[in-house]
Amino acid sequence: MKEQRPFDFFSLHTERSSLLTEKGDEMEGIDIVNINTPDFNVPDVLARFGSCIECVKTVPVFSLNEIEIGDHIIFSGRIYDHHAIVSGKHSDYINVIEATNTTSGTLLALLPFWKKAEIKENRKEINFSRDKISVVYYRRKVFSKIKIAERARAYSCGPLNLQKYQYHLLENNCEHFATFCATGKEFSVQVAKFEMSIRLLYHKGFNGINNERMRNDTLYQLGYICSKCIRINSRLVSVGVKDINSAKDINVGDIVRFTYWRLVHDGVVLAIRGAGESSVKCSIAHYAFRGLLKHRQILNEEFIIPLDGSWGVVQYEEKGYNVFDDESVVQRALSRVGEERFAFFANDSFHFTRWCKLPSRKTTTPSITMSDSDVDAGYQ
Ligand SMILES: [Zn+2]
Repeated sequence: MKEQRPFDFFSLHTERSSLLTEKGDEMEGIDIVNINTPDFNVPDVLARFGSCIECVKTVPVFSLNEIEIGDHIIFSGRIYDHHAIVSGKHSDYINVIEATNTTSGTLLALLPFWKKAEIKENRKEINFSRDKISVVYYRRKVFSKIKIAERARAYSCGPLNLQKYQYHLLENNCEHFATFCATGKEFSVQVAKFEMSIRLLYHKGFNGINNERMRNDTLYQLGYICSKCIRINSRLVSVGVKDINSAKDINVGDIVRFTYWRLVHDGVVLAIRGAGESSVKCSIAHYAFRGLLKHRQILNEEFIIPLDGSWGVVQYEEKGYNVFDDESVVQRALSRVGEERFAFFANDSFHFTRWCKLPSRKTTTPSITMSDSDVDAGYQ
């Protein structure tokens, strides 16, 4: 019998939020693309990006230090995400240049009285404990960040001023403006990722989306990811796992891998509460599934780990990755308990645990031959 699991609409919702106009669409949303004819035109997808889908990564950020002028920034909302280019950075706020039409705005723009989009520079105060902020990393850099900010400014107040930015329904919103400033091409990462999710579902079932190694291989076969990205991803997803067969095999600060809702899942060991003959009781921080109608959330939960090899410890050190010391791993995990920002491809159980375990970008392992920015995107 084929493995069944509850379909996690809320997680996919994040991938395709730009396609939705109202919350009511959620349960039927899967029909937006005809699942019986999943052969999207892949070359067309790649042409829109000018590169592969993995070359563009959305990475959650948690402090102002992680944001730079020229960044393509995303403010996530429940219904849609808003995209902008960072044009200024101050001690407690940033300036952004943005197209004022959102996806919803684009739909409303069909109405004759609706105001057309404008390109404006606005001040944004960010509360990192409340706001969901991400930055888009582009592995193939077309412009420097300074140049990206200049390009955005040219549209807001410079010679290219397009007070009425040209747009088409669903093909030109705030995201398109931001990707255009950053790459010279207008595209929507969300729309492309949604298409990709449907193809993965069709070819490999739900595990195809969740299991990183399977996802990596399938997307490469389907032509969605480039040879450079498959190389970076392969190293990351081929990190070994050591089976837990005795209480000595598990330590605070370890990343444990186990089966959760019939899917491969990673968590961070925060504390060991007790050990018996056949099991160990641990507190584990992980992206918890809380039912079909709730967003996943990072929780600190107690698990009984059986000492039968069904759980394992992920061995990042063996692949030459630098890792944080155990106490730092625990503190980093605790700092994100309560978060509800789960997204396949960008912020799932693997991304969360890697963020806790592996020092970010610029300080990564010397054995990696890619540039720092490649490592950036691959890690998180
Ligand atoms: Zn790529």
